[in-house]
Amino acid sequence: MGVLRELEPKAVFRFFEEICNIPHGSGNVEKISDYLVSFARERGLYCRQDEMKNVIISKEAAPGYEKMEGIILQGHMDMVAVKKPECGIDMKKEPLKLKVEGDDICAEGTSLGGDDGIAIAYALAILDDDSLPHPHLDVVITVDEEVGMDGAKALDLSDVRGTRLLNLDSEDEGYFLAGCAGGASVRHILPVAWEEREGTLYTCKIGGLLGGHSGGEIHREKGNANALAGRLLQTVHTVTDAGICGLEGGLADNAISRECTLQLVVSEKEEELEQAVRTLEKVLQSELSTKDPGVKVEMIRGDAVRTRCVDSASEERIRKLLLIMPNGVQAMSADMPGLVQTSLNNGIMKLGEKEFTVITSVRSSVASEKEALITRISALTDTLGGSVNVTGEYPGWTYKKESALRELCVKVYEKMYGKKPVIQAIHAGLECGILLEKRPDLDCISLGPDMKDIHTTEEKLSISSAGRVFEYVCAVLAEK
Ligand SMILES: [Zn+2]
Repeated sequence: MGVLRELEPKAVFRFFEEICNIPHGSGNVEKISDYLVSFARERGLYCRQDEMKNVIISKEAAPGYEKMEGIILQGHMDMVAVKKPECGIDMKKEPLKLKVEGDDICAEGTSLGGDDGIAIAYALAILDDDSLPHPHLDVVITVDEEVGMDGAKALDLSDVRGTRLLNLDSEDEGYFLAGCAGGASVRHILPVAWEEREGTLYTCKIGGLLGGHSGGEIHREKGNANALAGRLLQTVHTVTDAGICGLEGGLADNAISRECTLQLVVSEKEEELEQAVRTLEKVLQSELSTKDPGVKVEMIRGDAVRTRCVDSASEERIRKLLLIMPNGVQAMSADMPGLVQTSLNNGIMKLGEKEFTVITSVRSSVASEKEALITRISALTDTLGGSVNVTGEYPGWTYKKESALRELCVKVYEKMYGKKPVIQAIHAGLECGILLEKRPDLDCISLGPDMKDIHTTEEKLSISSAGRVFEYVCAVLAEK
């Protein structure tokens, strides 16, 4: 017992180990939530657990801090529970097997949940220590952040007194986040009709692409196989009247599509078509020679077939949707150099029995730009006779040019580290956006200790960084 018991700060690592002993993957949070409630009850602290199992714990200001504006410490209690194929741990029922390797903590065969267990460990260590100076504290711990931020979406903040929110869900010491993107998933549906066609079956594949997360990697402008499929269909259309009998690409709306497959029935000009596709491959390889050098367009000739293909009106709708649909970065931020402000990603496309579906992930740190982009691509689909539905919408956090909390955090950082922190915004979602929508008066910042490879079995939490950042958070609380 107590793999972490020798580590400093002792209270932080004691609570972290207790948390790791309670299974708490997303969707399996009842036990960890109840643990937080018992922690608060044992210490006579105000505590509220809601139906979702979100937990809010409050503590009165330390003597001399009663008049200060309250601070909210915020994180999420769920973790991404993944394990190696050979690992025998039942992550729904059994504790993690913690290991210390040099300056890192990791878990044997599984993810660690430093994201975001360390936030809870910090909060509990602070609440547990009556000698620490701090203003009124609200500790807000949400559920299911990792699967759509559902806890934050359902959270009621009416009994939270603080207005300054420290979100402890970042993983780079010295990098403070001060903005994030909002987003939504937009499903475009085009009706299709079928007809019999005869000819040679061709299978075309666009592949060899790097892919990546559509929030973190979109600025690299890598090739998106689904977007490139529009170019391929146009090439085919220019050469011959082929029938489409299959079209599919991408695995997730928030992943840049690495591969797509198009199946064609070709009855004339086979050679010209093969030549035109080879030319398209060269063109794409030249366009992407630096950004995505492995791009390939394969064309495999199959047997003579008689099969169902979409009719020419459906073909035209599909081709035009893929050709015209914008994709990638739409706007960069003028306030935060290098930050993508607005983007979209054609993540998944599929030709089904009754319809052709494309799912795009739209992101923007400016709410009105997100709305405008959704309206624009909806108008496109509407023009082509299709329909659209929007799901999984979450609000962003627009970077504020003035933030008293950020100034305070920078001042304390400079005092402690002797240098300036880096202030950043990210082109992905954080719970701060959702909380700000409920409480626009909040002043937020997001920070945390160094972690590597979160959401994977290689996840590591730096012990020394966790110690420093804890000391730093206490120093921010102690400021008058
Ligand atoms: Zn997290």
